[in-house]
Amino acid sequence: MPSLFCMRCKSLTPPDSVRCRVCGAPIGEVEGKQHCLTDITFSEKKEEKKIILPKDRLAAPYFPYEPRESQMDIVKDITVTLASSDHIVMESGTGTGKTICALAGALHHAKMKGKKIIYLTRTISQSDQVMKELRAISEIKQISGMTLTGRKKACPLLRTMAGYEDIPPHVLANLCEEKKAKSLAGGGGGCKYYDRVKSFVTRVDSFCREKFPTSDELDGFCESSNVCPYEVKKMLIQGMDVIVAPYVHILSEDIRSNLLAHMKCDDENILLIVDEAHNLIPAAREQGSFSISIKDLDAAMEELTSLKDPFIFKEIKAGEFVGFLRAVIKSIANEKITLGKSEALIDHDHVESVLKKKYSMNSADMLSAVNKMIDIGETRTEYLLDQGVHKLSELFILGVSMKDWISSDEGQFIKTIRADKDGEVLCASCIDPSDITMFIRSLKGSVHMSGTLQPLDQYVRTMGLPKTTAMRVYPTPFPPENRSVIYVNDVTTKYEDLKREGMTERIARHIVTLCNAIQKNTLVFFPSYGMMAKMRPMLERSIDKRMYWEESGHQRKTMNSLDQFRKGRDGVFFTVMGGSIAEGIDFPGDELSFAIIVGIPYPPPTLESKAMTDLFDKKYGTGLGWAYVSEVPAVRKIKQAAGRLIRTETDRGMAVILDSRASRYATQLDAKPSKDPVGDAVRFFSNE
Ligand code: SF4
Repeated sequence: MPSLFCMRCKSLTPPDSVRCRVCGAPIGEVEGKQHCLTDITFSEKKEEKKIILPKDRLAAPYFPYEPRESQMDIVKDITVTLASSDHIVMESGTGTGKTICALAGALHHAKMKGKKIIYLTRTISQSDQVMKELRAISEIKQISGMTLTGRKKACPLLRTMAGYEDIPPHVLANLCEEKKAKSLAGGGGGCKYYDRVKSFVTRVDSFCREKFPTSDELDGFCESSNVCPYEVKKMLIQGMDVIVAPYVHILSEDIRSNLLAHMKCDDENILLIVDEAHNLIPAAREQGSFSISIKDLDAAMEELTSLKDPFIFKEIKAGEFVGFLRAVIKSIANEKITLGKSEALIDHDHVESVLKKKYSMNSADMLSAVNKMIDIGETRTEYLLDQGVHKLSELFILGVSMKDWISSDEGQFIKTIRADKDGEVLCASCIDPSDITMFIRSLKGSVHMSGTLQPLDQYVRTMGLPKTTAMRVYPTPFPPENRSVIYVNDVTTKYEDLKREGMTERIARHIVTLCNAIQKNTLVFFPSYGMMAKMRPMLERSIDKRMYWEESGHQRKTMNSLDQFRKGRDGVFFTVMGGSIAEGIDFPGDELSFAIIVGIPYPPPTLESKAMTDLFDKKYGTGLGWAYVSEVPAVRKIKQAAGRLIRTETDRGMAVILDSRASRYATQLDAKPSKDPVGDAVRFFSNE
């Protein structure tokens, strides 16, 4: 059981205590029906330890460790940039301590100017690291910080419901509101965790300020005290110096507005730190993209049978409208998708033009019809919730997608039609997420960092950051001789060459001889699951080691295999480039020493990537489209994969790239050609 804090003397005391063991004060307020969650008096802030910093440390008063010279440079660069209300984009190699440097630099400026920091992370484990560093800073400076997660992760009440995982966020929010309303009315049927929020908020505040808990620790503390973590965090946000949150808290316009409202901040007094920044734009594009499938339309049609097919505009009934839209999609697919293809571009307003013509509508009429669908769908959702069915109305989902479809900007989206075994789908793919770039541009300071962000000018341009943005590269402080990257010239995964006789076998032979020659834990990265599956039988026949495989769509199984692999010292784990293993997991020491990278992981040539290439060619200059859309992400993926090898000062590791096209990126990858990769690898490891 976690400890609580005495409200008078702040000493730790077990949660079931009646009185503080130090000062004797009563613990815990009387719990009763609460009327609102405002007017909270927070606990006093803890005393800051007085630390006298050496003179040269005055430039970095929030840096809690003995800094290396390069770390002082990073902190100073960040503080100076933020002081001029500007942005800094930095590639910071493994071991530079970018998390602590960013926090120390940003806090120095934020505390002087009364600003707040939002620190964006991609994964929970990255947010844990931020909390650990904040805890270290709190030893020398009075600061506060807290992690945020969505309701779905935090809610202890609804989590116990059957099918919880599948409940859409919108429905979860409705259920939560209903429970809270009942709690406030006091007539029973409310949420017991919400009932205790007001009386426990000061304890949670003290816990956060004292312990700087990770996300799981904070949720666990709240849950064991029968307090809703989600609601209590909403109340505490405004008092915190640093809020650590997943990307979606900034990428989603709704969540972002709520967050800023709870922080009582606007663009003027927010500083943003983006960790693993190379993922931000792809995540924003994914967030902005959406689709409308034949399956969605069929589900809406079925729902309409129980809604007595209402009118949505003048004499037009919803069923007639949805049915005609279905026929339009089928006809576009027949007309546009040619033999052997599975997708085709469509004109930006083709679908709505056909609908408008059929029903003699103008744009305002069309919007009105779609809004009516959303209204009817909202009422239906409420009805379903009342009946204990925890899902959104199909008509509501379709109405929202249609509204997005007709209001999407031509410069930001490309529209395609796709067909697969599940039927035809209209897709709106976001190629230019200007909502997020506009928001970041409007801030008076931000820090964008990653271990693989070069070329920095590409990042600055695609993010739309101003020309005054500072760009810095801080190399890894680890000994360069501990790392080696080589590539071979006799194989490639280039599409036309891969079809040539013997190429696949030659690649497999390289993998087999390398794996059998090096008695170290080895990761093999493929460019796709398809290629990995194709080579698997050949490799299983010839490699004399324990082998583990990433199973697409089976996260738990993959993680169990990975655990086993990490415990051993001479196994081979087969995975794909760009996945969670290639980017999100650290393998310190002997957990990983050798990496084999099969091919150059250019993104697949889709209509979407072609449209982005054309857009960037037009925007930034001919040739830069291919560079920005295909080459830069491919090189980053290789660097991320090779970066798994060296996580500490004493780690040693080697990567072999099996593709002659690596020669084009030899400088960026710091890679050398090899005619004898097995010999080179054996020599590298025999020097240990
Ligand atoms: Fe869940 Fe909290 Fe809402 Fe209760 S108040 S339903 S615990 S999110």
